Order: sequence, then C-alpha cells, then structure tokens
Amino acid sequence: MNSPIRRSRLEVSVLRIGHRFVRDDRVTTHIALVARALGCDRIFMNEVDKSIRSTLEEIIESWGGRYFNIEIIESWKSTIKDWKNGGGKIVHLTMYGLNIDEVIDDLRNCDKLLVVVGASKVPRELYQVSDYNVAIGNQPHSEIAALAICLDRIFNGKELTRQFDDAKLRIVPSHNEKKVLKNSGE
Ligand code: SAM
Repeated sequence: MNSPIRRSRLEVSVLRIGHRFVRDDRVTTHIALVARALGCDRIFMNEVDKSIRSTLEEIIESWGGRYFNIEIIESWKSTIKDWKNGGGKIVHLTMYGLNIDEVIDDLRNCDKLLVVVGASKVPRELYQVSDYNVAIGNQPHSEIAALAICLDRIFNGKELTRQFDDAKLRIVPSHNEKKVLKNSGE
C-alpha cells in the first residue's frame, strides 16, 4: 500500500525567483508540476501569467493534491525572511554550491526546507541568506532537472510511489497499456 504524500515529517516548499514573463512560462509551470508531484507542499512565485495558475489548477483538480498551494509573492526577500522566522532552512540550488551529497544528511534532518531555484542570474544576496548553497553537480544545466534531483535525494525516492488521496484520476501502472481509474468521489 502506498503512503499518502503528506505523511512525511519533512515539509518542503519551493521558491521560484527571477521568472521572466512569457519567456519562462513553460519552465515555471514545469517547476510547479515537479514540486507538486515530487512531494512539496507549496510553491512561491512572483506574479506570473494567469495561464500558469490555471494549468496547475486543472492538473490538481484531476490528479489530486488540493493541499498544494500556489502562492504569489511580491518579494523573495520577505518570503525568505518569513520562512527563516518560522524555523525553516533555505536551500538555494546553484551550480556554484556544495555538491548535494555533502549536505544531504543535514537536509534530511531539517523540519522545514525552502528550495530556491532561479531563472536567469540570481542576486548575489541570495547566496548569503541561504543556509545551504547546493549544487546538483557543478555544471550548468536546468532548474527543472536540479529541483527534481534535489527532491528525489531529499525524499530518498519515496515520493515516486506516493498517492494523492483526493485524485479523481489514478494510473494503474502497466507495461503495455494506458490504464486510468476514475474516481467520481460519490
Ligand atoms: N547563470 C545563472 C546563475 O548565475 O545563477 C544560472 C541560470 S540556470 C539556467 C537557472 C537555475 O537553474 C539556477 O538559478 C539554479 O537554480 C538551477 N541550476 C542550474 N544548474 C544547476 C546545478 N548544476 N546545480 C544546481 N542548480 C542548478
């Protein structure tokens, strides 16, 4: 029996910074989808195109995860300050950081993590306010890939088999067909 996705002791949220209108719409949508699917409670992001929110809401409506919050913020600095004041730690994903293997035990021992991913160049101050500047390898690649690998390491692969209790659609894994169960909720 798979465990519901919220049972983890560790609460993880994502902060997307530096989103550029239109140009980053697709990547930001994918960041949010990865956050939801791979065990996070919430994504914070600046004002984005309305289509991003509606895409996410459609996915949540069908595939579950109504607890997953999409929070539009005005200032990343205030979000980080509030998170730290609430006892959470900041994990900034950057190719200039320490390799994740060096800090993963510390991250798993935290109660609340805010994983920050950039779009273009991130402000220098972010490196200073972060508790952990973490590299998913020290080569430039992608914020979507970096987030997915980071979450997979944090949750130790367990997030891949968790279920959303409120899902209307549920996939029955199959080696040769597309099998989906519909739950009308009645
Ligand atoms: N050149 C930019 C900079 O100086 O920050 C990086 C732009 S990169 C396309 C966008 C985001 O992807 C980064 O802010 C970071 O969060 C993430 N990223 C890219 N490669 C990474 C890596 N090797 N490790 C961790 N995060 C990475």
